[in-house]
Amino acid sequence: MRYNNYHKHTHYSNIITPDSIVKPVDYAKRAVELGHTTLCTTEHGYAGNVFEYYDVAKEYGLKFVFGIEFYYVNDRFSKDKSNSHLMILAKNHRGMKQMQRIMSEANKTGYYYKPRIDKELLFSLDPKDVVVTSTCVISYVSKHEDYDLNFIKPLHDYFDQNFYLELHDNTHPMQVEYNKKILELHNKYNIPFIHATDSHYIYPEQDKDRTEFLNGKNIYYPEEDGFILDYPDSDAIFERYEQQGVFTKDQVEAALKNTLIIDEFEDIKLDKDVKMPSIYPGLSHEEKVKKLKTILKEEWEKDKIHIPSERHKDYIEAIKFETEIVEETAMEDYFLLNYEIVKRAKDKGGVLTRTGRGSAPSFYINKLLGFTEIDRVDSPVTLYPTRFMSKSRILETKSLPDIDYNTANPDPFIEASKEILGDDNIYYMVAYGKMKDSAAFRNLCRARNLKMQEYNDVAKDLDRYKNHEKWRELIEESKKFLDVVDNISPHPCAFLLLDKPITEEIGVIKIGDEHCALIDSGTSDSWKYFKNDFLTVTVWQIISEVYEAIGKPIDDIRQLNKLTYNDEKTWELYKEGITATLNQTGTDSAKPQVMQYKPQSARELSAFVAGIRPSFESMKHLLLERKPFSYGIPAFDAILKESDNFVLYQENIMSALVYSGFPEDETYGLLKAIAKKKPGIIEPIYERFINGFVKQTGSLEQAEKVWKIIEDAVGYGFNSSHALSVAYDSLYGAYLKANYPLEYYTVILNKYENDTTMTDKIYKELPYFGIKVIPIRFGKSKAQYSPDKANNNIVKGIASIKFLNETIAEELLEIAENEYESFLDVLIDIEEKTSCNSRQMEILIKLGFFEQFGGNKTLHELYLKFKERYKKTHKDKTKQQRIDEIKEFASQLIDESIPVQDQILFEKEALGYGQTAFPKVHKSYVMVTEIDTKYSPRVSLYLMNDGTERQLKVSKKHFYNEQGDPYLEVGDIIKVLKVKQQPKKKLVDGKWADGEVMEDWLHAWEMSKKYKSN
Ligand SMILES: [Zn+2]
Ligand SMILES: [Zn+2]
Repeated sequence: MRYNNYHKHTHYSNIITPDSIVKPVDYAKRAVELGHTTLCTTEHGYAGNVFEYYDVAKEYGLKFVFGIEFYYVNDRFSKDKSNSHLMILAKNHRGMKQMQRIMSEANKTGYYYKPRIDKELLFSLDPKDVVVTSTCVISYVSKHEDYDLNFIKPLHDYFDQNFYLELHDNTHPMQVEYNKKILELHNKYNIPFIHATDSHYIYPEQDKDRTEFLNGKNIYYPEEDGFILDYPDSDAIFERYEQQGVFTKDQVEAALKNTLIIDEFEDIKLDKDVKMPSIYPGLSHEEKVKKLKTILKEEWEKDKIHIPSERHKDYIEAIKFETEIVEETAMEDYFLLNYEIVKRAKDKGGVLTRTGRGSAPSFYINKLLGFTEIDRVDSPVTLYPTRFMSKSRILETKSLPDIDYNTANPDPFIEASKEILGDDNIYYMVAYGKMKDSAAFRNLCRARNLKMQEYNDVAKDLDRYKNHEKWRELIEESKKFLDVVDNISPHPCAFLLLDKPITEEIGVIKIGDEHCALIDSGTSDSWKYFKNDFLTVTVWQIISEVYEAIGKPIDDIRQLNKLTYNDEKTWELYKEGITATLNQTGTDSAKPQVMQYKPQSARELSAFVAGIRPSFESMKHLLLERKPFSYGIPAFDAILKESDNFVLYQENIMSALVYSGFPEDETYGLLKAIAKKKPGIIEPIYERFINGFVKQTGSLEQAEKVWKIIEDAVGYGFNSSHALSVAYDSLYGAYLKANYPLEYYTVILNKYENDTTMTDKIYKELPYFGIKVIPIRFGKSKAQYSPDKANNNIVKGIASIKFLNETIAEELLEIAENEYESFLDVLIDIEEKTSCNSRQMEILIKLGFFEQFGGNKTLHELYLKFKERYKKTHKDKTKQQRIDEIKEFASQLIDESIPVQDQILFEKEALGYGQTAFPKVHKSYVMVTEIDTKYSPRVSLYLMNDGTERQLKVSKKHFYNEQGDPYLEVGDIIKVLKVKQQPKKKLVDGKWADGEVMEDWLHAWEMSKKYKSN
């Protein structure tokens, strides 16, 4: 007989606890196979991916049903971990919304290890809109003694006919015992039965796959042994109940029949219409467009002051052209909403990029509305507005405009959105984490108890091993875990904005500390929800912080163009490779290339960005070497003039198409069509192009040549507005670095304080500007790195040093304003006026913080004496006596510093790196700072010359003497005589063999200064 399998779990349950590797589509296929008619989402604790479920249901002609297997406690505010399972199904759309509301509440106010609903939330549901079932062996009935009067009876009373006792057909003894309890309750209250399969996979043999998935994650459910969690036909179900021997055949039949109540549920419809939130719900389309036009007019009045009047007509035309696209696609709400959000966020101190991402700067009205400051009408490279938004594209694909907002910090933008739309109308979206091939393979290896050393290298390069005798089968089998959802996180930057309460419409779940709308970014796109991306972008954090440090508002792009026009200082940085932290040009691979190209303008910098991508590789040398280049077709060269005759941008191709008579609106779509080369579609485009080009030039031969170039280039064209945006991001940095180096380097030293690689790069640039970094010094160091303008120095801060903090930094800076004749006077003030303790003092003294008063060894001795004799709590008279005594002690000290070996070891311990260096000492002199003898001995060597460190291996033969004692000890200074390179060994099929990576081995040295710890 037919039944409805409503109770089941897919891989979406894994985000709460690993449970299943089956996907919604697997259930749909099985339902069709068995002649079943519904597909019901019931994950653990939340609603799962409702949208995917819905799509799959429709694809397979099944009715979509919404349900959740909740975690239930009596009081969600109590610290109750009992978490009974409780199944609720929505009979209609109203029920679904109510369930989403209580699910959100469970995540917002009921979260304690799990999202939990309670009595209050359960009984807030309208009993007509839902069906509640007692669910599995982990229900309230098995977990609590008071299940009869405190659970079953009240639920029966409240939900009446919509409450069922759930039967499971498992033959496990635990289930059998549990079923007897259920039977008792049935007999007592006459509550109807309903059958549930509680599927976690489709076929019994898949139990092994599920177990392996769990074991790979180090999870074992021994109590589940013997439970069958498949999706069987009704014959199998009858048989299993018979084996249980608890219920009569009639009772089982009734329980199966009762699943058919789902046939009567409302067929819930979800739509893929555009769900653009409106901040003017009362206004008509015409009224809203009028409102937008009024705003644009006001903003144009402000902007036109900066534009020569002879060009006004071009701008007005641009505004008209773009506004018409907005009007005809009815997207005015997008611009009205984001205009308010961006404006308010900026009022709150929010920093938005002056440039942009993607095609957003291609709309001049985006500039007027404050989304970018790039002026496309006056741009050094052509930006086509239809690249951002075109009538045909928006209307045909029902897509929404999409701007990614680069911010220094997204918080003001989120706050502004909340203020404008409401607290319950904007949340982070979620991102489901799926197992990719390497993770799937590793999971299977772990489940099979393989050693990590053995499979690790294979997992890194599955492609190479896919035909390998030993690994082939395992790789193949691991595909059963492919794309299984195994975690969830808040999306890094995508937010859902909706003008209805999201807790009810979509549902909100808690991930870590964040509450997120239960929808991922891809789903939001295809279901036409509205998404804003607020990204945190380091380069804009740097730019805004440097402007703050120099006390100037951020220059706009027009201003930046003026400031950098022929500003040699700025362009010199690219030429000289002083590009650390500069966008697009600071990486190890980009730096030598930009030094070769030597850009001189934003236009060239943009070409550089587009030109160094891998897809332009074959032509790149021509661009970088600035070789004159031409396709030899004058009309085409004219089109390509702004990119030095190269096809660098998609916009170059769009220009060629416009030139041949295609309407601009169509050209972006044509790029994709040309790239696909689909027969039947490509021929008419080709013909139109040839005819158009010949009409302009009269040359068929040239037309065909250009077509060929376009066909080849269409795959690698880069979006010019994106290239220009990131070029400007780079230029802002270069301008600031060149003109305000002290402030720029201070900001980035603080920003990258914990990134030693970057800090190293930054330090190497400082001599270019004659800037010195001064180690921590009394009277100079603040909490962070700070500029010392008078001396062109940057002074290291002390707050980042272990055991020190901002308060100490401030207190010490304050007392340093006094004049001190001796270190003793300083110590007295520190004891009397600051919170500095002895550990902090010891660190500061040894790091040379008080260098102006003498050598650190002597100062430390004096401090020990002081600490022993002088207390804040002493009487004044005693203090004076003791001071005299300490003075006497001080007068006998000889000025000394800590021996160099101890000093470096201490610096490493306190700072994480050494700061003592001797530029005149030859580079072959190094100090041993660490030794690891777990495998082949490995030593860390500190270059006395510049304080950098490197690691070398040493063979045992060289490392130990005949008695087995090491030749080298930490602190020894040696002269390196010979370093050899040898391939790093790796494990192949259980044996060590030579790998591809080379390692440095210390081969010969000479002891220079043996370390004797004192
Ligand atoms: Zn359950
Ligand atoms: Zn379940």
